[in-house]
Amino acid sequence: MKQAGWSEAEIARRNEAEGFDGELEYVNSPGVGPGLEFKLKFLSDRIREAISKTGETSHEKVEIAIDPKAGVSASLTNVIMTDQGILSVSSFLFRWCGLVARAYTRTLYADIAHWTSKMSDPATDRECLLKCPDLVLYWFRIFVSFSGTGTHVLVPFRPSSPTEFHLFEQVAWSMEYFTVAHEFGHHVLEHRSTSADPMMQEFQADAFAAKVCEQFELEPFPLLPNPYTRTGAGASLMLLALEILRAFEEPVSDGKARVDTHPSPSDRIAKISTRNLMQPKQLEMDQEFNGTVIRIMSAVAGVMSDARRKGGGELVATIRQRLDDAEIGLRNSGSRLSDETSA
Ligand SMILES: [Zn+2]
Repeated sequence: MKQAGWSEAEIARRNEAEGFDGELEYVNSPGVGPGLEFKLKFLSDRIREAISKTGETSHEKVEIAIDPKAGVSASLTNVIMTDQGILSVSSFLFRWCGLVARAYTRTLYADIAHWTSKMSDPATDRECLLKCPDLVLYWFRIFVSFSGTGTHVLVPFRPSSPTEFHLFEQVAWSMEYFTVAHEFGHHVLEHRSTSADPMMQEFQADAFAAKVCEQFELEPFPLLPNPYTRTGAGASLMLLALEILRAFEEPVSDGKARVDTHPSPSDRIAKISTRNLMQPKQLEMDQEFNGTVIRIMSAVAGVMSDARRKGGGELVATIRQRLDDAEIGLRNSGSRLSDETSA
């Protein structure tokens, strides 16, 4: 953190703030990290408050939990024969949001005049990104690490600098709020019937989440409006980053295997960014922020797709193979051990 430009006093203050995990009365996911559960509860409580303002109370029937598994996922499981649901997120979801938010903030700040200019084309966007090999490598490591291991283990820790800090936090929170609010949306909108159109349900949950997130304009900093929660740009960033990750995870289908049940990210973003059609000023702001996210992430997607073809895909396959081998090895030595003890 010192290298990133923080003073001793600032580092001490940050450590103190981050050390506060909160005391939880009920722990649903023992062993996966008390900080994670506290974070999910904090986000969920704020979302519940926002939902309650509309007079809706069905969110009270939702339990939250951290799923003790790798990868990036969030899901709502309906408890059959009841009106209850369990909302869970994977243990590394928040890490993922944090890293993507950092990489995004750094890319934007590397040339903010370029990324927010009206005149642009994909070729110059790509050139702009390639001017920062450090950043390209950072993005690459994020996707390789999460597709190869489901965790952030292969990404070096590069804390945000004092200049990046506020935007980085705003972007990360907006991604997290959207993801959790989307799952609450499935519950509140009673998406239980299997005969319903799953695509339509995704759009509805997105619209619900975008509306909820609008209420978090002053989060996480009460004096600093957050355009990423306000405009839905945090949602767009989450969806586009996940699309690149899926392509790393499923190289054969280029990440398109999920398209059957989920609308494409671009269709979802088109709906999110045009939802305020009747408020021209807001619509303009929504399109500006979502537009910047789309430009940056399109450039990232293009460069990552090349990197995948030029050996990145093979690298991920090797990492996965080694992990599988190690797991089999562990299991075998485990069963040998128990054989020995029973003998
Ligand atoms: Zn959904």
